[in-house]
Amino acid sequence: MGKIAIIGAGISGLSTAHFLKNKYQIKIFEKDLKPGGLIKCKQVNGSLFHICGGHVFNSKREDVLDWFWSKFNRTLEFTKADRNAVVYMENGDKIPYPIENHIYLLDERTQKSFYEDLNEIDKIKGLNAGFTDYDSFGDFLRWRFGKTLYDLYFQPYNEKVWRCNLSTIPMSWMEGKLPMPTTQEMRDNNAKRVEEKQFVHSTFWYEKTNGSQHIADKLAEGFDIQYNSRIAEIVFDGKNWIIQGESFDKIVFCGNIKDMINMIKGVNVDEFKPAINSLDYHGTTSVFCEIDKNPYSWIYQPSRSHKSHRIICTGNFSESNNAAEIMCRNRITATVEFTDEINKEEILENLKYIPFNPIYIDHQYNKYTYPIQNGNTRNMIQSLKAKLAPVKFYFTGRFADWEYYNMDVAIGAAMDMVKKNF
Ligand SMILES: Cc1cc2nc3c(=O)[nH]c(=O)nc-3n(C[C@H](O)[C@H](O)[C@H](O)COP(=O)(O)OP(=O)(O)OC[C@H]3O[C@@H](n4cnc5c(N)ncnc54)[C@H](O)[C@@H]3O)c2cc1C
Repeated sequence: MGKIAIIGAGISGLSTAHFLKNKYQIKIFEKDLKPGGLIKCKQVNGSLFHICGGHVFNSKREDVLDWFWSKFNRTLEFTKADRNAVVYMENGDKIPYPIENHIYLLDERTQKSFYEDLNEIDKIKGLNAGFTDYDSFGDFLRWRFGKTLYDLYFQPYNEKVWRCNLSTIPMSWMEGKLPMPTTQEMRDNNAKRVEEKQFVHSTFWYEKTNGSQHIADKLAEGFDIQYNSRIAEIVFDGKNWIIQGESFDKIVFCGNIKDMINMIKGVNVDEFKPAINSLDYHGTTSVFCEIDKNPYSWIYQPSRSHKSHRIICTGNFSESNNAAEIMCRNRITATVEFTDEINKEEILENLKYIPFNPIYIDHQYNKYTYPIQNGNTRNMIQSLKAKLAPVKFYFTGRFADWEYYNMDVAIGAAMDMVKKNF
């Protein structure tokens, strides 16, 4: 059996380990004290805090679903829920997501200008505008959904999420991730009051206990994982790869490419360093709160009165996520998200303006949560893969591939990487 080192025990590293375990001897190095990476959770005063977001599972890929459900028992370990997401408008109205299908719930003046916008879009962009007909993400939002919805929701919400001028975000990065309703579909969806079922998470699975940490803990079972091991150097000696004095035939790196590029010794990757060092990204401050009981899963917040863009009502995903005393007060736990780092004082000030009366419990800042690509990123990463594959060094994962993967897409990418190279 060949020997493989996997760096990182997030969902990418753990699923890769499963895909390779029958053919190779595997050792996983993880810098943290437990598995999970971004899907990690912790108990705080008897409630479950998703330290980053509030992870739910589903997939459009049958091969990913088949594999996942071969590892977990759907009925014993998970519950299935329908997405109940709303946009919380400045005036307190709660408009179901996606907002463009629920225009009939807005006031008459807004409805009228929305339909005027659709006519304007037809004239200017044509009836069948495609992905390449927009200059930027901002241009897409403005000219796909019209100025009324852009001003009311898309611009303020997305500026909070991305903290930049939306016209600087290239469309190439959004490929495959954007809903592309035509003006006629928006008219029809509103006329027929159609509920959107296209989203990957329009229904989702959630763990009965311990949230997404359950996935990580179970996938980690039985593997040789060296925790508390931040790998700083991976050396190629001309034949094998050496990590902390131990020799491996192959490497699968599932951490952050910005670290990886400086770790590799014995293979010259200098030409890639400038592009990788300049890759842009966002972090997230996840604020764990108790909030008023409500029926929602996600609450999107375009309001300019505070900096948070989303509340994930993790307390609604499983009752076991809420300490008994919180439920006695008719409240639930939730994660209130802010883009990038904000300190506790600022958090407390912002919470005053956020709906559902949030009370602070804990918070965590994660420096890397959203990779931001530029027009060159994908090609550059493919070239680096082509350079490293012949020396049996492979990489996959959200921050290794610098791709906006969900858990299931990360599993799919690991599956594809293994099929291609092993
Ligand atoms: C706010 C937010 C909400 C999300 N919600 C959902 C959701 O609801 N559903 C969904 O499917 N997806 C969701 N995602 C996406 C999901 O989190 C990711 O797709 C997935 O967790 C990525 O896993 P990964 O293994 O690629 O990376 P990571 O989770 O980042 O794992 C990398 C691992 O490598 C380790 N590591 C890094 N460097 C080193 C080193 N030098 N030495 C040793 N170890 C190292 C890290 O500690 C970490 O454990 C969300 C993401 C965010 C940011």
